[in-house]
Amino acid sequence: MFTIKNTDSGTEARTGELKTAHGAAKTPFFMPVATKLTIKHVTPMELEQMGGQAVITNAYVTYLKPGMALIKDACGVHRLMNFNRTIFSDSGGFQMLSESFLKDISDKGVRFHDPFANRAHFLKPEDVIQIEREMGTDVAMCLDHVPKVGSNLADASEATRRTHVWAERCKRYHDAHDQQSIYARRQLLFGIAQGALHRELREKSAKFIDSLDFDGNAVGGLCIGETREAMLKALEWQIPHLNPERPRYMMGVGSPEDIIEAVSRGVDCFDSIYPTQNARHCHVFTRTGTIKLDRGKYSKDFTPLDPECDCYVCKNFSRAYLHHLSRSFEWTHHRYLSYHNVYWVVKFLERIRNAIDKGEFEDFRKEFKERYRKNKDK
Ligand SMILES: [Zn+2]
Repeated sequence: MFTIKNTDSGTEARTGELKTAHGAAKTPFFMPVATKLTIKHVTPMELEQMGGQAVITNAYVTYLKPGMALIKDACGVHRLMNFNRTIFSDSGGFQMLSESFLKDISDKGVRFHDPFANRAHFLKPEDVIQIEREMGTDVAMCLDHVPKVGSNLADASEATRRTHVWAERCKRYHDAHDQQSIYARRQLLFGIAQGALHRELREKSAKFIDSLDFDGNAVGGLCIGETREAMLKALEWQIPHLNPERPRYMMGVGSPEDIIEAVSRGVDCFDSIYPTQNARHCHVFTRTGTIKLDRGKYSKDFTPLDPECDCYVCKNFSRAYLHHLSRSFEWTHHRYLSYHNVYWVVKFLERIRNAIDKGEFEDFRKEFKERYRKNKDK
């Protein structure tokens, strides 16, 4: 299911392969987010053509809209979305951070608010796994209780304890259904370790989640407003306690600088809205840093977004033209900039994998960090 190909000699970085019911994904990889069953402004065909290997959907949001009847009529999300590679599903734990979704929470489950229909739904951990089985995703995530950023020890401790109770229940339910989706395909189940920014909790949670023998382990509850230093520290507390033979997934991480640091600490997969959300704000990735394309200084710049990128947008359009589209509120600029940013991150992970395989990861990381700070727009 998960094999390690090469491990870097100077860091914890490694390459490998995660096999799912929809093929093998080379690790480390990045997943764009398709919460509403689409990546914003990038088609599944485009993602496949650029070498994207996986996307992540969301169980709770799918349950609300379009609802499980349609998903089952379509025989699962792969067919509905027409995406034939690996699809993950997050549980809905993250949505609990939003006051527009969360009503109340107990060990029994979560009472969610449905903002589309203005009514409440109660979901047990087992219900969430059943939704993911009906979605037919290749990798299901356990329901977790994500503590808010900066939670005190008592609150974080309670959320972590509840995450552990739910993880056991999710695993039991999934095992009782032969670890399969309702379409009789093998579905992997990943546990999620929590613990906010408290060392003792992070370590305890990683040990506990690892002990449940999931197909993979995720580090959750980070990248929600803490500093990069705090995020990396929390990651370092958990990594040594997560079985190296299982894939390690860091949830919510998507900036190039965070990705390369997490890879060096032993992370194998990532998801984030970062590339597409940044694109919609005209923030564009380049090898010398993120540029803010709506700035006046780009109005007469006839170079590509990133001269070293070979995506369709960089090969065909100038910064000046894309700047003009963004200033004219022509929404095609969302398409073009999202395409470039997703392409850029997919190729960035490809370059990271090549560097690890060639034993050149440390040099690659050093050079990346030096160059990425150069032309960054503040
Ligand atoms: Zn490009």
